[in-house]
Amino acid sequence: MIGVFGGTFDPIHFGHLRTALDVMQGVGLEEIRFIPLHGAVHREQPLAAADLRLEMVRLAIRPQAGFVVDDREIQRAGDSYTVDTLASLRQELPRRRLCLLLGMDAFSGFADWYRPDEILELAHLIVMHRPGEQGPEDPRIKRLIETSRVSTSKQLLAQDHGSILFQPVTQLEISASKIRNLLDQGRTPRFLLPAAVLQFIENKGLYRTNHTK
Ligand code: ATP
Repeated sequence: MIGVFGGTFDPIHFGHLRTALDVMQGVGLEEIRFIPLHGAVHREQPLAAADLRLEMVRLAIRPQAGFVVDDREIQRAGDSYTVDTLASLRQELPRRRLCLLLGMDAFSGFADWYRPDEILELAHLIVMHRPGEQGPEDPRIKRLIETSRVSTSKQLLAQDHGSILFQPVTQLEISASKIRNLLDQGRTPRFLLPAAVLQFIENKGLYRTNHTK
């Protein structure tokens, strides 16, 4: 089974990488595909150009077997809808099962995504969560949890699609916006993201509006 991890990755950081590894090892996935979005649908647009965000993901995942970068959303251009991404993966890999990795925040808004029912026809959901964390309030999501939640990765692996697994992951208080803010203030985000990514950011002068290198 392939884990699909979409995001702006503006830039990618250890919060993304460690949680993806927790899921890959905890659930027993063959690989995790990091898919940087081209155009954001639910949030403001990324600051760094798509090809630079893609390159940062490439640099970040290089040391980890099973981590793969996938540029299909960037190649497709325009708004990036998850349902289109999953449909194209399904077409390309008809025999591989797919599961979509989501943070609890993203899962809370899942009912308002574009074609959530179709997404569940194409993939499972793995919700990366903090133990003891409050679940979503949306009654549509509560219903979905009641009907589709499984409690073990074995149960997930036994189904083709449409199941939901809550997977506890390491909690790292790191966000891309925090990293961008540090850089913009002329401070270093060292130890929040891989050194190779920071080197790339510095070489390209990314995320600095007020400060020169
Ligand atoms: P920003 O600060 O710009 O909003 P971000 O750090 O949240 O960015 P995204 O690329 O938007 O990064 O996130 C992609 C996915 O990674 C989302 O599902 C998000 O919930 C998850 N994610 C981001 N940071 C962490 C973290 N520290 N721990 C676990 N998951 C994270």
